[in-house]
Amino acid sequence: MATFAEEKELAIRNLLKTAPKPQLHIHLDGSLSFDFIKSSAKRMKIQEPDRFALLFPLNIESLSENEISDYIWSLKEVQHIQGDIVSGNGNWKRFDFCNQFLQTKLDLKEAVYDLVMRQHREYGVNYIEIRFAPKLHNLCGLSDKEIVASTLDGFESAKEDLSKIGVHLNGGLILCALRSHSVEDAENILKLVLETNALGFDIAGDEGSYPLMLFEGVLRKAKNQGCFITVHAGEWGSLDYPTVQDNLRLAVDIGVNRIGHGLDLKNSPENLINDVLLKNIGVEVCLTGNCGNPNRCTGYADHPIKYMLEKKIKVCGLNCDNTLLSGNRIIGRPDPLTECVRALLIVKVSPNALVEIIENAYKSGFQNDALNQGIESGKVWREHYLPKLIEIMNE
Ligand SMILES: [Zn+2]
Repeated sequence: MATFAEEKELAIRNLLKTAPKPQLHIHLDGSLSFDFIKSSAKRMKIQEPDRFALLFPLNIESLSENEISDYIWSLKEVQHIQGDIVSGNGNWKRFDFCNQFLQTKLDLKEAVYDLVMRQHREYGVNYIEIRFAPKLHNLCGLSDKEIVASTLDGFESAKEDLSKIGVHLNGGLILCALRSHSVEDAENILKLVLETNALGFDIAGDEGSYPLMLFEGVLRKAKNQGCFITVHAGEWGSLDYPTVQDNLRLAVDIGVNRIGHGLDLKNSPENLINDVLLKNIGVEVCLTGNCGNPNRCTGYADHPIKYMLEKKIKVCGLNCDNTLLSGNRIIGRPDPLTECVRALLIVKVSPNALVEIIENAYKSGFQNDALNQGIESGKVWREHYLPKLIEIMNE
């Protein structure tokens, strides 16, 4: 028999499953589905047998979901033990594993299409900004522009297919520069953002080894060109990595539109917090993304989201970060619905605060229609979902 707590969780899940949701911080390579991985591997085996044999002596296409999942968790555990450091021109191994499946136009198009469709069908997401680092998708010779065009194609196809069934979904793509790559690479990514229909620019990767200061020139240029900017900052702890506070300070001074994670804001001086408020900078919170890494956050109840809400910082959405690669064996993976459930039941975010967080995400979207979509979705939340949610929470 289900316990009272389990029944409550189930009631929340049933109520909020199809509620409209935004996702502002979700990485393409970290959010592949098992189905996509297997179909891409099958295709590679037929079309590029040499590359396939080199990459996957284990016949990945015949592994079960559990076996692939187990392999991914093991890569992540090694990364945590080794201290999350990235060396050379690289990225973390579990992301490298996923990026093997994102090296052709078809793979990129299908991965974006699959992600958008799943997020909508399974969790009611109707506004989504998907981010990726173009420099990780050129192993088979695709140019930066081909990479961006293929992903945009995937997004537009999904949007079009959803509109045929009366679903109005919005959003787009954010292009990431990686901290472990050169400043020149970051300049090229910014140029791509400005020359294509991508929505915005992000800097991601190993925050401990590569301070944001290295990219100050690129960020200032992005700001001067009127580009929407979000940066991963304050994701790592300043107790171990003192430059993390400088990263936050620089992001705020430049006036980025949003900060990814921002966990270390809890250690920031009052004047920095005041500037975050004055400049109306949003923080993309990723609860499971942070709690899945013991080096970042020890548990949901300790997550600085509560501190952010107390300080009236604009928390913009409960974001997944990576639907495949975030989390861990114990807490599982994030999804847009589970993040709401955990915020309500473990972090103890109130239903009213949850709706505000959701509305803030739409308001902070980089796409033209985000605001209108937020007004519509906010209305649906306040009229339909909020009263029922309050009822369940008060039982
Ligand atoms: Zn991220």
